[in-house]
Amino acid sequence: MNQAVDLLEVLRRQAARYQCPSCGQSLADCELDLVSSTDHESVVRITCGQCEASRLVVVQAAAWVGESVPVLDQPLSDDPAIGVDDVLDVRLALAGHAGDLKSLLTR
Ligand SMILES: [Zn+2]
Repeated sequence: MNQAVDLLEVLRRQAARYQCPSCGQSLADCELDLVSSTDHESVVRITCGQCEASRLVVVQAAAWVGESVPVLDQPLSDDPAIGVDDVLDVRLALAGHAGDLKSLLTR
């Protein structure tokens, strides 16, 4: 839960840089409530201190995302990559095609 508390503190510090979309006042005096939180993102309710308009924002912390995104350091299959020759073959085949798109895809 410490992570979520930290998040609210970070948002609190940044809030002054934003304006309430409803009344245009600074959000420096806004109220921040943590609605839900997972490892990857948190939902925070921001309530304007001036007009009390509130909205939900989803916050994704870059550090958390960086830890959770799988890194593809292995090829997905053993198939050889598409080479220049393959592209040229397709281009020639398309250039010689006289039918519509559907007939191209089904042949
Ligand atoms: Zn407002």
